[in-house]
Order: sequence, then structure tokens, then C-alpha cells
Amino acid sequence: MKEVIRVLIALQRLDNQIASWRTIVAEGPDKLSQLRLKLTALEEEMTTLSAQLASSGQKKRELEAESADLVDRKAINQTRQLKAKNNEEYRAVLKEAEAILNQVTSRDNELLTLMEEMEKLEARKPDLEKAIQEETILYESQRNAIVTQVEESQKADEAAQAERARLTAALPPDVLGRYNIVARNRDGQAIAAVSDGQCQVCRLSVPPQLFNELQKNDRLLSCPNCARIIYWPGHPDLKPPEETPADPSLKAHG
Ligand SMILES: [Zn+2]
Repeated sequence: MKEVIRVLIALQRLDNQIASWRTIVAEGPDKLSQLRLKLTALEEEMTTLSAQLASSGQKKRELEAESADLVDRKAINQTRQLKAKNNEEYRAVLKEAEAILNQVTSRDNELLTLMEEMEKLEARKPDLEKAIQEETILYESQRNAIVTQVEESQKADEAAQAERARLTAALPPDVLGRYNIVARNRDGQAIAAVSDGQCQVCRLSVPPQLFNELQKNDRLLSCPNCARIIYWPGHPDLKPPEETPADPSLKAHG
């Protein structure tokens, strides 16, 4: 029975590790997309900015073409002024000259406003480019850390399966069945240490008689409250092996 309890403790420890590796693997994709949020927002801002600059550039070219057209019209108008045959015609040509001048002023104002806007947009670009560059470096290093962690967890999980098979094979089938059922119903934690008369998982006290029985470490008992398989870690058979004292020569240079 001593050996069964030791194997159960080892199996639980391994299953807890496997569960934590699987949590890391399961949470990986979500972590990655969370991590990408800031960079995605900056990239979208840059796309919007570029689109605004492109449409402003198009508008600027249109206004410039209109200005060039007005220059031509102004030249034609001036020729007409010289060739006017009478006062009436002359006044009409002058009226047209005034209209052309108004349009030139209006185009120029539009063009100036547009160029100011474009300058502001252009000024935002270097900051945004820098922010994207910095965020990309940050994202890639953190992404690599997450990807590495996920890969290592997957490998560790795979590597642990042989050890798990060895441990489960060392358990009598009824004990393994009991372990599996309790683990399934108790969030993966099938066994519990009892110290100072208290179940260390559900935190409730076990009756003194049961605790006395448990300290003998000669049969499998359950916590009356949470039904987990309990053990007393104070028993000499269950104490973890003493740690090998560190080599003092290694400490000397810190
Ligand atoms: Zn309990």
C-alpha cells in the first residue's frame, strides 16, 4: 500500500504538470491575438493615413489642373480686352475677368487649406512609422516567447506520456479507476494531503479517528468532505528524499 500511495502522489504531480502544459497550449492562440491588437490598431491607422494622403493628393492635382485652366482663360480674356469693339463688349469681358479672378482666389484658398491638411498628415507619418516599428519588435519577441512556451509545453506533454503510462501500470486497476473518477469530479485533483488533521485541498478537518488511521499509511482513505484520496505526508515512507547538499565549492564565487 505504501508503494500505491507513492505512485498516486507521483501520478497526481505529473497530471497537474500535464494540465498546466495543456492550459498553456490552449491559451496560446488567444494570447497571440491579444498581443497583436495594438500593432493591428497602429497598422490600421497607417492605412487610413495613407488613404487620406492619397485622396488629398488626387484633390490637389485636380485643383492645380483647374488653376492652370484659369491661367489659360485669363490670357484669352486679356486678348479679348484688347480686341473689344465697343464699350458693351469691353464691360462684358471685364466682368468675365472679375469672375476668373474670383475663381483663382477661391482655388488658391482651397489649395492652401488642402496643403496644410496634407502637411499635418505627413507630419504624423514618421511618428506612426516609428511606433509600428517599435511595436513590431515588441510583438515579435513576445510572440516568439509564447510560441516557444507552447511548443515546449507540447513536447513536455508528449514526453510525459511514457512516464504516465509507467505510473498508471504500477497501480491496481481499482485504485486507478478510483483516481480517475475523483479526478474527473474534482477538477483534476484526486488526492489530498492531510496535515494537522486538515485536508489540504478542501481545508476541512477530518475526524481524529480517521486521521489516526491515516497516519498508519497502510490503506487508501478518502476525505469525508471532498472524497479525495488522502495521505499523511508526515509518514516516513512518504517524505520526499533529502535534497543532495549543494557542492560548497560552487557557492564560493556566487
Ligand atoms: Zn478534502
